[in-house]
Amino acid sequence: MPATKEEVVELDFTFVHHQLGWYNTHQFEFDGEKGKIVIDYSCFAEPILAQKGKQDKPVCYYLVGFFKGFLETVYKTEWDVQETKCIAEGEKHCEFVMKSVGGA
Ligand SMILES: [Zn+2]
Repeated sequence: MPATKEEVVELDFTFVHHQLGWYNTHQFEFDGEKGKIVIDYSCFAEPILAQKGKQDKPVCYYLVGFFKGFLETVYKTEWDVQETKCIAEGEKHCEFVMKSVGGA
């Protein structure tokens, strides 16, 4: 069983979501205050790119909301999560940055 909150987040973000088929983790950095995850497949971006063509902004809202809700549930503080690059924009990866903004 994971011992720390950071280990819980890492296990969920890099392994569980992979098992669910939501994305493949390419890079993961997380220190409990901020983090970044880069994925090289997104089950949300690929169908939009295939059916509607290249988008002018990121489309993986589901993942942004999931990361934010997961972090806020584990840490009991508010988190800011943004998708800064998206496969649906024609990028090679989707990239998400997250940071704790404190509070409760
Ligand atoms: Zn995306």
